[in-house]
Amino acid sequence: MEWIKEGITLADCQKAGPLDLIDTRILLMYVLGLSRIQLITQSEMQLTALQAKQVGDLLQRRYDGEPIAYLIGEREFFGLPFHITSDVLIPRPDTELLVELAIQHTPQNSRVLDMGTGSGAIAIAIAHQRRDTHVSATDISAAAVAVAQKNAARNVPEARMHICVSDWYSALAGQHFHTIVANPPYIQKDDHHLSQGDLRFEPTVALTDHADGLTNYRHIIKNAAEHLHPQGWLLMEHGYNQAQAVRDLLTQHKFIEVQSWLDWSGIDRVSGGRLK
Ligand code: GLN
Repeated sequence: MEWIKEGITLADCQKAGPLDLIDTRILLMYVLGLSRIQLITQSEMQLTALQAKQVGDLLQRRYDGEPIAYLIGEREFFGLPFHITSDVLIPRPDTELLVELAIQHTPQNSRVLDMGTGSGAIAIAIAHQRRDTHVSATDISAAAVAVAQKNAARNVPEARMHICVSDWYSALAGQHFHTIVANPPYIQKDDHHLSQGDLRFEPTVALTDHADGLTNYRHIIKNAAEHLHPQGWLLMEHGYNQAQAVRDLLTQHKFIEVQSWLDWSGIDRVSGGRLK
């Protein structure tokens, strides 16, 4: 953004330009370390050459489509702050439904597992809300596990979490949980959404199974009985058109009380069932 030059005032940064005003303000607060109030009360402050360069670069990256969460390295989920890098999916507001369901369906003093945890948002939100639980979280990506561990230390300091690298259940032999949750990569290969919007910047490994979108559900559901206590719930987030297929898989594998739950947009977003 060429017009962001040394000496420009905060007020002028917010006047012109092709970007959403909210985005501009968030990026200004981030670079200059200002609060919302300071951004207003110090509107005549002038940017140094270095600040102008930093602000200009970030505004340009935002203009080119990079999500705000990656630019500032932070996103709120379930009222908690999460450190975010491009190694992990940006937590979606819709995913709060999966957290709420896990909290409701988990018995007292239980062990919960979140697979494919990414930033750790789901696992950490559950552990934060339910202080009686021990929460394990896994991800196939070591970079994601590092981000999740950092977020756990920040939000659940009392060490009720265990986060490790695992390809679904592979590192969990012999372990049992009262509740298992997952928001696996579910987008079909060649889905046009993968080349649009925020998804262009998110890790492909977290978005798609490079097949029909159901590969991970088949694997998770087929092997869940080995890791769930009797009566334990398996709850999974899925795409807008996958509820029936996921319920069918659960029923085929003898889960009971199989059902789906609606997100805020009225779309079946989470399906689950209970082990007999
Ligand atoms: N919710 C993401 C999207 O469609 C996909 C996440 C996933 O594959 N689990 O934007």
